[in-house]
Amino acid sequence: MSEGSSQETGAPSAADAPVTRLVHASSPSARTAGLLNPPVHRASTILYDTVEEYVARHSRLYDEVIYGLYGTETGFALAAAVAELERGHKTVVTSSGTSAISLSLSAFLKAGDHLLIIDTAYRSTRRFCDEVLAGYGVEVSYFAPDVGGAIADLLRPNTRMVFLETPGSLTFEMADIRAITDVTRARGVVTAIDNTWATPLLFRPIEHGVDVSIAAATKYLSGHSDVMLGTMTASTDAIFRRLKDSAARWGNVASADDCYLVQRGLRTLDVRLERHQRTALALIDWLGRQPEVRKVLYPALPSDPGHAIWKRDFSGASGLFGLVLDPMTSEQTSAFFNELRLFKMGASWGGFESLIVPAWPAPVRSCGSVGEGSLLRVHAGLEAVDDLLKDLNAAFGRLRATPLRSSQ
Ligand SMILES: *Cc1c(COP(=O)(O)O)cnc(C)c1O
Repeated sequence: MSEGSSQETGAPSAADAPVTRLVHASSPSARTAGLLNPPVHRASTILYDTVEEYVARHSRLYDEVIYGLYGTETGFALAAAVAELERGHKTVVTSSGTSAISLSLSAFLKAGDHLLIIDTAYRSTRRFCDEVLAGYGVEVSYFAPDVGGAIADLLRPNTRMVFLETPGSLTFEMADIRAITDVTRARGVVTAIDNTWATPLLFRPIEHGVDVSIAAATKYLSGHSDVMLGTMTASTDAIFRRLKDSAARWGNVASADDCYLVQRGLRTLDVRLERHQRTALALIDWLGRQPEVRKVLYPALPSDPGHAIWKRDFSGASGLFGLVLDPMTSEQTSAFFNELRLFKMGASWGGFESLIVPAWPAPVRSCGSVGEGSLLRVHAGLEAVDDLLKDLNAAFGRLRATPLRSSQ
């Protein structure tokens, strides 16, 4: 933790638990005015009293408010709160989770470099690598999530960066982060991870040797389904400066209003996650007893292949899981989904509402497959479990009442 970020947030000390830090995160002007939440400071230009201060302003851009593009006090306050939570050095806040990913990759890669990326990364991450980075002359290759220490065999002389995400997007495989970073650190390769599923409350990648921890704050950190925002947290000052420069060069900044909303969401992150996990486990307990359910993909389950790694490294699970059902016909799919009452269909999870969507990972995997069956992705929201179970029970009833298509 840097001196700077503790001074910016004031009250919490390094010895306080993460939930205490969340509750007490603040900003200098909030403290001066006696406010609890950092106020929204909207600014493009910043004024200076003397020509000397004006001329010297760029030397302070990493730590202070010097121009709107580099962040306002509202953004710095959120960055400090997230850095505390991540137990990282410092954080850069960006306009979306997607931009936090593309800016982290752009910060370290140039033409001729090689990037290794986990096969189960979020689809937009793969697209950025395949469509943008490859076009700029970066070599991109994918590896299976169970690679572990064998990542050493995949490193080339020009491998500059390894990009991770665990559990895997849509399919929830766990990767052994420590086994990977033991190799990358020895070889001077930068690692970044998309940690959106766990949030820094349940898994702190920097403590496991990762250099850049990324969150789509759009999801749980915000928690209210109405903000786009991303965070990139650095393990060291050198990494932080590259991330900050990357955001500035590409002209990326999060609005102060959105930073304010995410800071507000953070206050309740701990209680929300506890409830998301409890509801997810209750839904899974019921779902696991339905004959059409072949598999539940959720590392918190003792039967899950990634459970041992999850138990060793994570302090909890969030509310997002996968479900593999017997293959459904299109008529059965329509019957199952189209009359759901409480579960909604939508892509961006991590908010207060329950979601359920069909998913098709196969076209975006290079290594391995997820097996036969219909894959569904479920987000357990904050509704009462019994109401959610009634909704699911009705959906399975409609599924059973819809005959298999005759072969005509
Ligand atoms: C949603 C999501 C993103 C992208 O975040 P946006 O804020 O929607 O751009 C990245 N990674 C994961 C794992 C996500 O779920």
